[in-house]
Amino acid sequence: MTFPPLREELRGVEPYGAPQLDVPVQLNVNENPYGPSAETVADIAAAVAAAATTLNRYPDREFTELREGLAAYLNGSGGSGLSADQIWAANGSNEIMLQVLQAFGGPGRTAVSFAPTYSMYPEYARDTSTTWVAGRRHEDFSFDLDHAAALIAEHAPAVVLLPSPNNPTGTALPHEVIGKLCDLLPGGIVVIDEAYGEFRREGVPSALELLPSYRNLVVTRTMSKAFALAGARLGYLAAAPEICDALRVVRLPYHLSAVTQATANAALRHADELLAKVAELRAERDSTVEWLRAQGHAVADSDANFCLFGLFEDRHAVWQGLLDRGVLIRETGPDGWLRVSIGTAAEMMAFKDALTETLTVMRKETELT
Ligand SMILES: *Cc1c(COP(=O)(O)O)cnc(C)c1O
Repeated sequence: MTFPPLREELRGVEPYGAPQLDVPVQLNVNENPYGPSAETVADIAAAVAAAATTLNRYPDREFTELREGLAAYLNGSGGSGLSADQIWAANGSNEIMLQVLQAFGGPGRTAVSFAPTYSMYPEYARDTSTTWVAGRRHEDFSFDLDHAAALIAEHAPAVVLLPSPNNPTGTALPHEVIGKLCDLLPGGIVVIDEAYGEFRREGVPSALELLPSYRNLVVTRTMSKAFALAGARLGYLAAAPEICDALRVVRLPYHLSAVTQATANAALRHADELLAKVAELRAERDSTVEWLRAQGHAVADSDANFCLFGLFEDRHAVWQGLLDRGVLIRETGPDGWLRVSIGTAAEMMAFKDALTETLTVMRKETELT
């Protein structure tokens, strides 16, 4: 008898998670490097203190104030005419995605995505006993609509999960692709995961613009990245009211704590400040892409706050070389590629120095052998 008596499909599985290492330069989980100002901290603390006076009571199960605040925010961030009944929120967009599969996936149903993509998606499918099918992208990571159409025709998925911009490649999806996917899946749900939406380049549209045209479209966002609030755990989606209603069936009772709601509401009041560094981070991203290309590396075009670069014969050795120099990046994506999150100018300088040094040392070692 094995103990504990785990579900068959979970045996021997390692829990997901990037290494949380205490090093000076952390560029591995796409966080915003800038923390909140003293003023925002004080307002969040005051809001949490007020919430604390009623912690003997359960929180507002429908988190109405927060939904109204998120609708207003989205209407200034690519959306239009969104109201509170079109918004749903949970503890991170990871929980949002799990709830979507709890409601719309499940045994006998299939979820589809296109690799390389976010490594958590197959885990939500597994945890909800949803069949998982991964298609592929073009060699340059752009979306292969013909391949996707064939895969959808073959598997008739209940849910398609697609980040735009994609993680780990940074690739955004054109409107035509999203519209076509919604048309191809009249009986299913198309989730466009815009965790990095605020970082998209000038002229790149948000899927929020398509919500009025497609009732099976779901657009998710998070406060974890551009919003600089990863520690608060707040993700949300915009969709047809019927979809939000359906999610109320599977959510745990009072899943958003009073503390979380108070924190997120206070953060929304300071949205301008929390998002103030986004322009700077986008510029830093563009110059990082340029610098990496000037060094002769392949770099995927990025609409996010990270870039995927390569190709390295031994990417683990490069990753380790950077870590030895106090810079933590991410070993992810197709073999040979590495992903670096965009930090402050000083952190990016440290990254560039560490990469140059690492590759110089590695080159000398191969010359010697
Ligand atoms: C970081 C990320 C999220 C956000 O997760 P949270 O649970 O909101 O912190 C969602 N999707 C993708 C593709 C991500 O990279």
